[in-house]
Amino acid sequence: MAEEFARLGIGQDLVEGIDAMGYRSPTPIQEQAIPAVLDHRDVIACAQTGTGKTAAFILPIVDVITRYGPREEGSIRALVIVPTRELALQIDQQLQGMAYYTPISSMPVYGGSDAASFDQQKSALTSGTEVIIATPGKLLSHLNLGYVPTKGLEFLVLDEADRMLDMGFIEDIQRIITFLPKDRQTLMFSATMAPQIRQLAKQVLHDPVEITIALSKPAEGVDQRAYVLYVPQKRPLLEHILNSNDAKCILIFAGRKTEVKDLARYLKKKGHEVAAMHSDLEQEERESVMLAFRNRKLRILVATDVVSRGIDIDDIDLVINYDVPRDPEDYVHRVGRTARAARKGAAVTFISDQDMREFGRIERLIEREVPKAELPKELGPVPGYVPGEGRKKKSGRRPGSGRPNSGSGGGRRRR
Ligand code: AMP
Repeated sequence: MAEEFARLGIGQDLVEGIDAMGYRSPTPIQEQAIPAVLDHRDVIACAQTGTGKTAAFILPIVDVITRYGPREEGSIRALVIVPTRELALQIDQQLQGMAYYTPISSMPVYGGSDAASFDQQKSALTSGTEVIIATPGKLLSHLNLGYVPTKGLEFLVLDEADRMLDMGFIEDIQRIITFLPKDRQTLMFSATMAPQIRQLAKQVLHDPVEITIALSKPAEGVDQRAYVLYVPQKRPLLEHILNSNDAKCILIFAGRKTEVKDLARYLKKKGHEVAAMHSDLEQEERESVMLAFRNRKLRILVATDVVSRGIDIDDIDLVINYDVPRDPEDYVHRVGRTARAARKGAAVTFISDQDMREFGRIERLIEREVPKAELPKELGPVPGYVPGEGRKKKSGRRPGSGRPNSGSGGGRRRR
């Protein structure tokens, strides 16, 4: 049994749910965050996906709202704000699992839905659902319509705060907060602690407990390797890896949607079980692709960074970075899809002669040199690896990924 969670103060109903999910002992972030939240403290945690951060806030929140009655009948009791609908769905699923033996109900609220789901969301928001997991824009639409009962809100969680800032959600978040009671507990999770995050923390948190879990480094269990090569060698190498590796669940990342689509088509032609995942897909299509991948009906998923953060697919044994992500943090998130919660996994990155400079930035961020593997001889000669070489960064950010106020257009990115 997951008795170690009881030692942290978590009640028996939840411990049974945790046990059914197969967790045996708390991860470091859970060890630190759970007692702090139960002690009524605000928390700011620097932790990346894969550390168990979701359970670190869900467990104490559900524990408190199960133990004590609501401050205000019918009010939402906890609000979790997240950058993407995938993350909202994933957190909701984890919550449903952990809270299975409790009477707590939850609902994800996200954009891009039709009128029927808007109404469904509205009814969940107004009929005593205790925990709402929402993306900022859609939540704000509901709040602005005036019917969302927030008076008795006890917990606000800002998850992946750095990602939300990147996506231009800061104003929406600040506006959302104006609808919430000041007398609440606020928990903020972020993979990085950029100055903007600290500033937001100052505004919304009250004397928080600070928790830092291994800043921006892929989990220890990941076997990271890289190939230095020319662009035309990428597809043959990919074929070689897919055919010679016995990995059953493979996630391939490419930076652009066009590349993702092309690559998926190419691999399908070569006889692989593969699907593409990117922001052009409708929500239903995304969900059915994810389901097929989770259920092992597909061996390979080719995706943009849309799925690199927050998506909970267990047992991915191989991540392939078909290109070097422009944002070093994305590397950490991509690689974080494997070896979750200390399991083993492998991550392979293709570094073209154009991308060595970018990869050098990644190696600096993770404070580690990633071993370079040799290409099979038949694929021909390769460039030498010089981390300072390759494309120069232009405006400091890749096109379309501008942060607000960065002068590069700002706004939300669709990948
Ligand atoms: P997260 O960082 O919240 O995205 O969690 C990463 C993964 O670890 C998810 O697949 C969780 O289901 C899993 N996980 C979270 N906490 C634990 C735990 N205490 N023991 C084992 N697995 C866990």
